Amino acid sequence: MSDVETPVLTPVGGPSLPQERRLITAIPGPRSQELAARAATAVSAAISTTLPVYAVAAGGGVVVDVDGNSLIDLGSGIAVTSVGNAAPRVVEAIQRQAAQFTHTCFMVTPYEGYVAVAEKLNALTPGDHQKRTALFNSGAEAVENAIKVARTHTGKAAVVAFDHAYHGRTNLTMGLTAKNLPYKDGFGPFAGEVYRFAASYPFRDGEIDGAARARATIQAIEKQVGAHNLAAVIIEPIQGEGGFIVPADGFLQTLVAWCRESNVVFIADEVQTGFARTGSWFASEQFGIVPDVVTMAKGIAGGLPLAAVTGRAEIMDSPVAGGLGGTYGGNPVACAAALAALETYEREDLAARARRIETIITERFTAEQSRDPRIGDVRGLGAMMAIEFIDPATGEPDAALVRAIAAEAHRQGVVVLTAGTYGNVIRFLPPLSIGEDLLAEGLDVVLEALRNS
Ligand SMILES: *Cc1c(COP(=O)(O)O)cnc(C)c1O
Repeated sequence: MSDVETPVLTPVGGPSLPQERRLITAIPGPRSQELAARAATAVSAAISTTLPVYAVAAGGGVVVDVDGNSLIDLGSGIAVTSVGNAAPRVVEAIQRQAAQFTHTCFMVTPYEGYVAVAEKLNALTPGDHQKRTALFNSGAEAVENAIKVARTHTGKAAVVAFDHAYHGRTNLTMGLTAKNLPYKDGFGPFAGEVYRFAASYPFRDGEIDGAARARATIQAIEKQVGAHNLAAVIIEPIQGEGGFIVPADGFLQTLVAWCRESNVVFIADEVQTGFARTGSWFASEQFGIVPDVVTMAKGIAGGLPLAAVTGRAEIMDSPVAGGLGGTYGGNPVACAAALAALETYEREDLAARARRIETIITERFTAEQSRDPRIGDVRGLGAMMAIEFIDPATGEPDAALVRAIAAEAHRQGVVVLTAGTYGNVIRFLPPLSIGEDLLAEGLDVVLEALRNS
């Protein structure tokens, strides 16, 4: 770690938990196993867990379980607790708001927190055009509503999504999501007027440049759908569940330009990439694009359920009055948490920490790649980094290796997630509050697991 310009990451905030990996039982321990047995008789078997250790506390870069084990967190509950778990400002804001009122419904008697979050998101999202925001509860709900406004604004119905896309688990968003197992299997029929095309996957596409790739996709859209039928194109600037696929330079820019010429709403699904995760407020900024509509959730509120759609005023205002909403959307406690989280991103310059995390992970894994040809690709932006594993003889995805690495890292007390259409990607989404020593130790464990697999 030679990057002496950036200060070493010290852990930020959180409950005063020792920032250490500490294993005092096998993983999962006996009390976690008891809870897992209860879950097996109480919770739907369709809800599965990555690592069945039952949490009792978390903060900085650790998750502490019921058996007293302290695990290194390289997942942030899937990119949610970017500001850290139980981040002090967020906890304080939640407590204060919860003691005032917990709900009125913004559609019945509104409150300032909702308006303040909307103002903040209008200012933070890319572009200096007039914007409006609507708040919801989950990423999938944000995506559904982004499609609604695109349809009322354009008066058109078709929606284009991409290979490797993930947009959620409700009916429309399952239809937009690419991967069948486990997200869609047996859950159809899906909503109509959804069309899927090739995106940009540099590691697997070969040499083709991003703009050329986009032109081929646009041509296919024009042939198979027609811009005059198309309401929206929705894409994750970096595809998350698909394996942190960073599109080739020029791909997104070319697509946005075509959408703008064609009266097609360009929706950036920044549910996973948003809020400093990639080293800037939104990943769109790093690709130099200004989306018409942005969907947000995950990192927005320090762990409370909140989601947002922010877009051009004329698009967001296009449904009839009362056309958008929901009982809980923009809950006051979630809004208070979001305002505190947004302040934390700014005050602690968490985007800079994300960039530092990118440097550390890139250095460790590109060094390893020069020794280990099973590492096919090291990619990502900021604290959203992925390692794609292949069989060096054939170049085929190696999902079994990824399963072995993840299982061993879990046994050694590191919470690490997998991803990818082919299941052959380890993804790192550490909380931006993690300390540098702990991050290094977590990466050591993963590298050791790789060397022993
Ligand atoms: C997680 C995710 C969603 C769905 O969000 P939920 O809150 O789980 O509904 C949608 N889009 C992207 C890109 C995501 O990563």
